Amino acid sequence: MIPVEEFQHHAAEWLAANREHAPRDYGAICPPELVGHGRVWQRRIHDAGFAGIHWPVEHGGRGLTPEHNAVWQLECARAGVPAVLNMVGLVLAGGAVLMYGSDDQKREQLRPTVTGERVWCQLFSEPGAGSDLGSLSTRAERDGDAFVVNGQKVWCSGGRVSEWGILMARTDPSAPKHQGISFFLCPMDLPGVEVRPLRQMTGESEFDEVFFTDVRLPAEHLLGPLHGGWQVGMSVLTNERGHIGTSVIGLERRLAQMTALSEGRELGAVERQELTALLSHGTALKAMAQRQGPIASTAASLLKLGITEMMFDVAMLRGDLAGAGALLDGPDSLGILAAPGGRIAGGTSQVQRNIIGERLLGLPREPRTS
Ligand SMILES: Cc1cc2nc3c(=O)[nH]c(=O)nc-3n(C[C@H](O)[C@H](O)[C@H](O)COP(=O)(O)OP(=O)(O)OC[C@H]3O[C@@H](n4cnc5c(N)ncnc54)[C@H](O)[C@@H]3O)c2cc1C
Repeated sequence: MIPVEEFQHHAAEWLAANREHAPRDYGAICPPELVGHGRVWQRRIHDAGFAGIHWPVEHGGRGLTPEHNAVWQLECARAGVPAVLNMVGLVLAGGAVLMYGSDDQKREQLRPTVTGERVWCQLFSEPGAGSDLGSLSTRAERDGDAFVVNGQKVWCSGGRVSEWGILMARTDPSAPKHQGISFFLCPMDLPGVEVRPLRQMTGESEFDEVFFTDVRLPAEHLLGPLHGGWQVGMSVLTNERGHIGTSVIGLERRLAQMTALSEGRELGAVERQELTALLSHGTALKAMAQRQGPIASTAASLLKLGITEMMFDVAMLRGDLAGAGALLDGPDSLGILAAPGGRIAGGTSQVQRNIIGERLLGLPREPRTS
C-alpha cells in the first residue's frame, strides 16, 4: 500500500495541476447552483484516484486507509478546493451504506455516489424535531413489499438537486421515541415526494421543505435493522464531524482574512480591541485543534462551537467597520445574514454547550422529558 506521505505528495501535486477545474470552495454542502460543476469535479477526482479513498476498490474506491483520506482533505483545504462533491453523499450516505448496507445496497449505491452521478440530501429535521431529533413524526408503515411514508421534512439542503435522500422515519409509534425509528435510502423521484424551496434571509434558496404523501418506498431501501434507525442515524452524524487537520487550515485562512479587515482602514480603539480579541481567540482555537490531533467528539464540539461563534462575531465586526454601507446589498450584509446559520447547522451552539458541559466538564445531565 502506498505510504501516507507519498500519497499526500501525489495529492498536493495533482491539486496544483488541477485546482483550476474545481468549483469555489463551498464547504461541506454543495449549493444547488454549483451541483453541475461539482459533479464534474467529483468525476475528475475519481478518475485520478482521489475519491472514496478508504472505500473498497470493488465499489469504486481506492482501498486505502482513513489516514490517506485525512491527508487528501488536508491538501484540499490547503488548495482551497472542495474535497468531495457533497458531504451528505460521500460521507454520510456512503458511510452509512458501508457500515450497515447489504451487499446489494453496497453494489447499487456506492459506485454512482463516488463518481458523482448520484447526489444525496439529508432528510432528518422536521418542523417539530431538530435538536431533539428523536421526536420526529414522519411515519413509515409497512404495507406488503413497501413502506408507506407520510410526513414533512425541513431544512433539507439541496433537496431539489438530489437523486436520493437519507431518511429517518418512525416505524413503531408505540415504542419509546428513540426505539421506533428506522433509517431508509429514499429515491427523491418517487410519486408523492414534493420538494419546495425555502427562501433564506440572504435571498438565496439552499434549503427545501420535503413533503411525503402516501409515498411507496420499496422495503429493500431500509438500511440497517427495522426500528434500529437511531443507531444508524447517530453513527452517520458522528461521520459528519470533519477532520481536525482541515479545521486548522480553514482557521489559518480565516485568521488571515480577519487580519486583512484592518488593512487600508483607520481603526478606532474599540474596533482595534475587538479585532485583537477575535484574532487571539482564533489563534487559541487553532492551537487547540493542532493539539487535539485525531478526532474526538468533544473536541469536535469545542471547535464547532468556537469557530461558528467566532465567525458570527467577525461578521458583526465587519458590518460595524463597513458602517452604513453594511445596510446595502453586498458582501458585508451577506456575511451578517449568513452568519446565524453556522451557529445552527450540525447541532446548535446551545446543544454543543450541553455536550461540552456533560461530557467534558462532567456537569449533571440536563433533565430528560422522556
Ligand atoms: C445551514 C443549515 C443547513 C441544514 N441542513 C440540513 C439538512 O440538510 N438536513 C436536515 O435534516 N437538517 C438540516 N438543518 C437543520 C438543522 O439540523 C437544525 O436546524 C438544527 O438541528 C436545530 O434544530 P431546529 O432548527 O429545529 O431548532 P430547535 O431544535 O427547535 O432549537 C430552537 C432553539 O432552542 C435551543 N435548544 C433546543 N434544545 C435545547 C437544549 N436541549 N438545551 C438548550 N437549548 C436548546 C436551540 O439551541 C435553538 O436556539 C440545517 C440547518 C442549517 C442552519
